[in-house]
Amino acid sequence: MSETTDTIFSKIIRREIPVDVLYEDDLALAFKDVNPQAPVHILVIPKKPIVKLADAESQDQALLGHLLLTAQRVAAEAGLNNGYRVVINNGADGGQSVYHLHLHILGGRQMDWPPG
Ligand code: 5GP
Repeated sequence: MSETTDTIFSKIIRREIPVDVLYEDDLALAFKDVNPQAPVHILVIPKKPIVKLADAESQDQALLGHLLLTAQRVAAEAGLNNGYRVVINNGADGGQSVYHLHLHILGGRQMDWPPG
């Protein structure tokens, strides 16, 4: 998939595509993944359209921290008290399909290692 700044996640931020929103603030949005890979599968995205982790810059430091704390928050609110996994797929080899930075929160089952 090509790297563009206006992705399906930009449309979700603009509410042009409906999603099940779990958390939102000025910087971030968390919503349920449409194709869940675990009983709980939530995506956390920045509203700023950073294409992928490799494109984040030093000025994004606070935002990146905010995304992790948002992941912590929504995981707790989802009741993932026994643990969960946070994943960022970066670029083609990382398996990234939507080129707008996002954190996957996966939980509700035992995760395998190594991942596929
Ligand atoms: P990636 O493969 O880029 O790491 O993850 C992209 C994720 O976005 C996938 O898990 C996919 O199911 C999810 N996704 C793609 N399009 C939509 C959509 O329109 N709505 C929601 N809620 N999730 C989406």
